[in-house]
Amino acid sequence: MRLTFLGAAREVTGSMLLVTTERASVLVDCGLFQGRRAESRRRNAHLPHPAVTADAAIVTHAHIDHTGNLPVLVRSAFPGDIYLTPATRDLAACMLRDAARLQEADAEYLNRKYADDPEWEPIVPLYTEEDVPPALERMVAVPYHRRFTVADGVSATFLDAGHILGSAQLVLDIDERGRQRRVVVSGDLGRAGLPIIRDPEPPPRHPDVLVMESTYGDRTHAPAERMADDLARVIDETRARGGKVVVPAFALGRTQELLVVLHRLRRDRRLPAIPVFIDSPLAIDVTSVFRMHPECFDAETRRLLDEDDLFALEGLHLTRTRDESVAINDVVGPAIIIAASGMAEGGRVLHHLRNLVEDPRNTVLVVGFMAQHTLGRRLVERRPRVKIWGVERDLRAQVVTLNAFSAHADADGLVAYASACRPGRALLVHGEDAAQAALRTRLAATGIDAYAPERGETIEL
Ligand SMILES: [Zn+2]
Repeated sequence: MRLTFLGAAREVTGSMLLVTTERASVLVDCGLFQGRRAESRRRNAHLPHPAVTADAAIVTHAHIDHTGNLPVLVRSAFPGDIYLTPATRDLAACMLRDAARLQEADAEYLNRKYADDPEWEPIVPLYTEEDVPPALERMVAVPYHRRFTVADGVSATFLDAGHILGSAQLVLDIDERGRQRRVVVSGDLGRAGLPIIRDPEPPPRHPDVLVMESTYGDRTHAPAERMADDLARVIDETRARGGKVVVPAFALGRTQELLVVLHRLRRDRRLPAIPVFIDSPLAIDVTSVFRMHPECFDAETRRLLDEDDLFALEGLHLTRTRDESVAINDVVGPAIIIAASGMAEGGRVLHHLRNLVEDPRNTVLVVGFMAQHTLGRRLVERRPRVKIWGVERDLRAQVVTLNAFSAHADADGLVAYASACRPGRALLVHGEDAAQAALRTRLAATGIDAYAPERGETIEL
């Protein structure tokens, strides 16, 4: 059997892994690559042939860098079913429709902008809303811990990855001519103490191969328990200056966690009476999906839900329409504005940043990973000037990064996970070079030899 690393190899987006045996091939994840525009367009539009001809696909979780290219896969005549957990299926339905709308809007905007340029070749959206239902129809939802047959000689089991609602580690049991082999794919691995969801489950011991994420292989996070204190401090300091807190946040996961932590602060009378805006139709839809999947909640969240509507918060404004979003610009005095996209590459957060970054009273609060070449990364690096919608702006607002909010395991968490697993071989994906190099050194010290394959590389087992 062999593993082919089709995406998220020595980078963090575009997750795609192909497992090939003598009798079958199975695709694990089919994510959007997110980076420079031209490269993204080229890579996302042309899926590798072996991905399209796989017998089946499995999806670890609903983040768009793991699911976002499923509509292109199905449109490209991929013949198989797509297996995922029930919560991932419901979340993917929201995420893919939103991604389609974004791509349609993006293409329309660029084509209009360059309409007078004779060299301009009109852009076709990667996919449209019409491409989404055919992908959803292929989805087969399977709960955690239930072993299922994926293809001839390949069966799989989902374990909770503790990363976002419905997220899974994948255990693949492969039979080749009577020889049994086990491959564990960590998916994006969460960490203990995150709000709402359960902690990651321990991996099975001694698989032949572990394919593991490495996003924060060179970082240590503040413990998740610090979230509430850190957030309260940032809000207090910003309010004392008379400023606003703007949070670029993933509509799926981070927004709901922030809501829960704000809810706790309000309950403990530590959240001042200032308005809180969730300025994202997608985040509002996704929050509704969370309510339908209490089977994924941890004990504390289930208890809280019995007493209270976790997502109801006094002073909370859910803004769906464009006009409501623009009206937030007129709010006078302190406020908290949570808006997508998470890396500030697009979405409504851009108009808030444009309005707020030049005023030193305001705070840009960073609560998630910011990939290279994104506006989010430039904010984290505190560049003196940042370009928003093509216009340079002075960055005078405070920028605060709270890594207690990270939904990914840090270096200690990744080493503990691999040490609990003790695989025959460890292969690192979903990480930039520096993170992977640091993690390999740490793993080597525990006797685990890890390798980070390049994109397109095939490893024979
Ligand atoms: Zn993820």
